[in-house]
Amino acid sequence: MSGLLVGKCAVVTGAAQGIGLEIARHLHEQGAAVVMADLDGDKASAAARGIGVGVLGLACDVTDESAVSDLFHDAVSHLGGVDVLVNNAGITRDASLKKMTVDDFDAVINVHLRGTWLGIRAASAVMREAQSGSIINISSMSGKVGNPGQTNYSAAKAGVVGMTKAAAKELAHHGVRVNAVQPGLIRTPMTAAMPDEAFAATEATIPMRRAGEPREVAGAVTFLASDLSSYMTGTVLEVAGGRGM
Ligand code: NDP
Repeated sequence: MSGLLVGKCAVVTGAAQGIGLEIARHLHEQGAAVVMADLDGDKASAAARGIGVGVLGLACDVTDESAVSDLFHDAVSHLGGVDVLVNNAGITRDASLKKMTVDDFDAVINVHLRGTWLGIRAASAVMREAQSGSIINISSMSGKVGNPGQTNYSAAKAGVVGMTKAAAKELAHHGVRVNAVQPGLIRTPMTAAMPDEAFAATEATIPMRRAGEPREVAGAVTFLASDLSSYMTGTVLEVAGGRGM
């Protein structure tokens, strides 16, 4: 078998649909064994079966400390190790400051910051032992430029960048790299919830004049997962068609 990730084992969170699903597919195409984790274990298993042999779907709420610990335990016992983690699970609870509730704020901060941190902590314990590994955190251009109606999400996604850099510095000498990807507007179930006019208005602001496809994010993630990026850590790759540069 040929590919950039032959012999590697990867865990992708929020992988039952959207960007996470395409990341899992892309990593698998490059030879990795993949665990696809999502809130809905049945949906994750169905998605895994759709990709093929060597892909496993498991239930995991990334905000739940013991569920994340179980996920890595299961990944190590099924795959023999974890070389790559993609912290992709995400939610939005958009509202203006006038209307956003504390629950909306806490839910978004929890999934993106607590979830990513729990993933980094669990993966780095395995990767430090192996003196090798690559962690990729999915941030967002919202975390770079800030979006109205997304004070919670923009804060969380900016926080993911800070967390990426701190973890990268802490783990570099253990052979573990930590990088982030900031997608712009990508066509997924998350953005399908946007009103058509809002989607079109956002597309019009993109220099490339179109939304991105999940596969275009997956390509950047696979690059960061592989040895092609062996001297990169603490970086943030924008996959946004030129938006927000
Ligand atoms: P989707 O909503 O299409 O997919 C996200 C997946 O994550 C869903 O399956 C969702 O499950 C799952 N999920 C949500 N909460 C949890 C949790 N606590 N534990 C485990 N899984 C969870 O989103 P996208 O594919 O669009 O987004 C993927 C990532 O990319 C997110 O981090 C998002 O913020 C980021 N991103 C997306 C952009 C876009 O334009 N689409 C732009 C920039 C960044 P369920 O459906 O049951 O909630």
